[in-house]
Amino acid sequence: MSEPRSDLSLADFRPRPALVRKETSIDKPRFPVIDAHNHLVEPFGGGWDKKPVSLLIDLLDEAGIRVFVDLDGGWGENVLHRHLDYFKAVAPERFVLFGGVDWDAWPEQGDGFGEWAARQLRAQAARGAQGLKIWKGFGLQVHDQHGQLVTVADERLNPLWATAGELGLPVTIHVADPVAFFDPLSPTNERWEELHAHPDWQFPSPPFPSFLSIMDGLANLVANHPQTTFIGAHVGCYAESLQWVSQLLDRCPNLYVDISARIGELGRQPYSARRFFIDYADRILFGSDMGPDLEYYRLMYRFLETDDEYFNYGLSEIPAQGRWYIYGLYLPATVLEKVYYRNAARVILNRAE
Ligand SMILES: [Zn+2]
Repeated sequence: MSEPRSDLSLADFRPRPALVRKETSIDKPRFPVIDAHNHLVEPFGGGWDKKPVSLLIDLLDEAGIRVFVDLDGGWGENVLHRHLDYFKAVAPERFVLFGGVDWDAWPEQGDGFGEWAARQLRAQAARGAQGLKIWKGFGLQVHDQHGQLVTVADERLNPLWATAGELGLPVTIHVADPVAFFDPLSPTNERWEELHAHPDWQFPSPPFPSFLSIMDGLANLVANHPQTTFIGAHVGCYAESLQWVSQLLDRCPNLYVDISARIGELGRQPYSARRFFIDYADRILFGSDMGPDLEYYRLMYRFLETDDEYFNYGLSEIPAQGRWYIYGLYLPATVLEKVYYRNAARVILNRAE
């Protein structure tokens, strides 16, 4: 006879909540939606450049997504062209494409990098890019011609941000987040399983700057460029502290946030999150960041629209960002309409609707 088990590994733990819960399925969002943060190609978007665009449009129709913002335009003409020709040419009203910055050119451009990047942005805009995406390597892995880390508020980049403002292109920016990726991979790290599976997602400080010093840089960047519209990705890059994000929103009217890939964070602080949505209803943009995925869109609608309790914030059995569940926010219709559509229409499409 085998001994009764006295221990269980975390990976084998599969608790099934005994709680009897209401489960609402929302097939269509209450209002049309602009997905302000998503991707269409690998590694984040699911390779839609290899499938017929008509299938994608059917999926977006089914999901109630009227406009899809694809952040994968990059900087190479080929990438931008491919997306513009493949997706936008088929349905110009349905797709918006953001360009990017080629940081690898810094050593060659030296202190003139900011001017050079600004010229690149003008060229991208002329070809049809409608915004600029700054990826998380900024503040962590971008180096100048001397091999020094470029900080987020580095003044050499002023021409780039000023040009985005002048052209009316919003800058979707992701820095630092999440906090736990800066903490040691110890049993107290709430994202231990995720970091264990992806060791390269850790940014221990040192050698990396601390989380809060990067966030200070973001705050300074946004405050220093009031003419430029910034969209802080993933709830302003600090969904773990809505207090911090609220303070920056109060200080900087040119800042907006998207909620992409962070219903796990928002939904575990439902009282604060609901207040946050109501207080900043004009500043929050819907975004998914999970590729065009019908099931995930519906999960987001359930989170935003219902008062369902204690449900999985992801599509896998064990939620990827940590072993907790979330609570719906049952947002008022006026707030939903702004978050789903109106804010992004104003900020990204320059349309007051
Ligand atoms: Zn993304």
